[in-house]
Amino acid sequence: PMKPVQVKLVLLGEAAVGKSSLVLRFVNNEFQENKEPTIGAAFLTQKTRVEDKIIKFEIWDTAGQERFHSLAPMYYRNAQAAIVVYDVTRAASLDKAKSWVKELQRQANPNIVIALAGNKVDLVSDEDDDLHPDELDGDEEANEDGDDMPITRQVPAEEARAYADESGLLFFETSAKLGHGVQEVFNEIARKIPID
Ligand code: GDP
Ligand code: MG
Repeated sequence: PMKPVQVKLVLLGEAAVGKSSLVLRFVNNEFQENKEPTIGAAFLTQKTRVEDKIIKFEIWDTAGQERFHSLAPMYYRNAQAAIVVYDVTRAASLDKAKSWVKELQRQANPNIVIALAGNKVDLVSDEDDDLHPDELDGDEEANEDGDDMPITRQVPAEEARAYADESGLLFFETSAKLGHGVQEVFNEIARKIPID
């Protein structure tokens, strides 16, 4: 049996877009509805098979908060791959993702494989219908933020894909909650990693 090829991968993106949830789905095939925010960074590993090779991902799941930004270079400096995550229901999170991509393209390994992941598509999977998931529980109370608007998509897939194409990124829409697209992101990265 062949020795696994180790691939150091970092997750970046605004807080609460679902970075840790994507990792939890990939590593344990689990989802937690109220996942506690990551402090600093978390380290996990998972193996995946690509053709005749075993890839062992060494995953650094970073905190998204601005106060941890200065730590990020420690995690991406030697990374061979990055997943930059945004939330399809929050346009501002794509802006943040773009700024991470710029930083990676300036400061990280020039051969780094970057994937852009638009997460939480389950929240908009019924976007062609009249019902939204947050209306299905019959809870009519507005929360303290006055945030009683139905959840709608703020980032069209085509817009994000066009940006990813022009920037040389892999692109996926994902749902850590349902598991959609998650294995695909990691497998596609594994396929793109230059292995000697
Ligand atoms: P992180 O700060 O980027 O690591 O985000 P977390 O993984 O901690 O997730 C933030 C919140 O979003 C948690 O309450 C998660 O349960 C939720 N969440 C994460 N991914 C998804 C998803 O794909 N769909 C939905 N509906 N919620 C998600
Ligand atoms: Mg996290």
